[in-house]
Amino acid sequence: MATAVVTGGAGFLGSHLCDHLVAKGLRVICVDNLETGSLQNVEHLRGDSFSFVNHDMTEHLAVDEGVDLVFHLASPASPIDYLRLPLKTLKVGSYGTHNALGLAKFKRARFLLASTSEVYGDPAIHPQPETYWGNVNPIGPRGVYDEAKRYAEALTMAYHRQQGVDTCIVRIFNTYGKRMRPNDGRAIPTFIRQAQANEPLTVFGDGSQTRSFCYVDDLIRGLVLLAESGEHLPVNIGNPQELTLLELAENVVRVTGSKSEIVFEALPVDDPQVRQPDITRARQLLGWEPQVGLEEGLRRVLEANERESLSV
Ligand code: NAD
Repeated sequence: MATAVVTGGAGFLGSHLCDHLVAKGLRVICVDNLETGSLQNVEHLRGDSFSFVNHDMTEHLAVDEGVDLVFHLASPASPIDYLRLPLKTLKVGSYGTHNALGLAKFKRARFLLASTSEVYGDPAIHPQPETYWGNVNPIGPRGVYDEAKRYAEALTMAYHRQQGVDTCIVRIFNTYGKRMRPNDGRAIPTFIRQAQANEPLTVFGDGSQTRSFCYVDDLIRGLVLLAESGEHLPVNIGNPQELTLLELAENVVRVTGSKSEIVFEALPVDDPQVRQPDITRARQLLGWEPQVGLEEGLRRVLEANERESLSV
């Protein structure tokens, strides 16, 4: 049985990845300090194929058993979290990534870095291909996240080139699904929470900025295909279906059947104007395409929330 370490495994994406790997028959060691994640996300995973280690990735991580794969997802990811935790975000992107790469080197494991579309900053090229170097403000408030991920990418390539570690880098575009925290500040859970309470949906700016939203099952499938490939250079994984924030709010109102109105609020500093992945590389290298459209994905999230509230 192959063994995977998933750092940040108790978070939104990490817990879905743990589910997927356990279902595939792997043994999973979930490493998380619960800074923004929760044990509730993994409490259904029990038995020999899953274990949880409460550990801060900025400290050295020792694992007693063999490890075949290291998925490094540990990092605050929502703007609310990384603006609240600027130094911790920089530390987990730097020391945390060193420690995760060190583990992969020691165990001769394949390593996957969860990077982000935020490495492209406010992009001058649209849609964004992996060859675009980005337009990031290093000293703005969001710089702590964007630059931590850019450093983590540089570090990953250095471990690959100098130390021979078998690495890959996934640039994740906005992803949504069940287990997102209703108050984590990201657009979809915020809009769903507001719509279900029949409160006004708060759209930043005039809502003309665009985003592309990927359903979590599609994202996890792409991420695992990349880990199973021999690729070392970054690969975008995201859904190229692009829409404005205002259109997203209107979609959520429709799908939830809410009576909420839409209101506008000040745009956050350095908010990117556009965001859409060019997924040509993922298509060619991995044969990967997203399969779940926005409306279907939103319905699945609502159904999952409903099932959860009934079982409480
Ligand atoms: P999340 O906040 O739900 O999960 C992050 C997890 O990392 C949490 O469980 C948290 O407790 C853990 N963590 C944070 N600091 C840690 C530390 N020092 N040591 C150990 N664990 C630590 O966020 P998410 O949306 O699941 O994001 C997971 C990864 O994917 C992040 O690296 C994020 O940058 C990346 N990503 C996510 C998205 C998205 O749309 N969700 C987009 C781009 C990139």
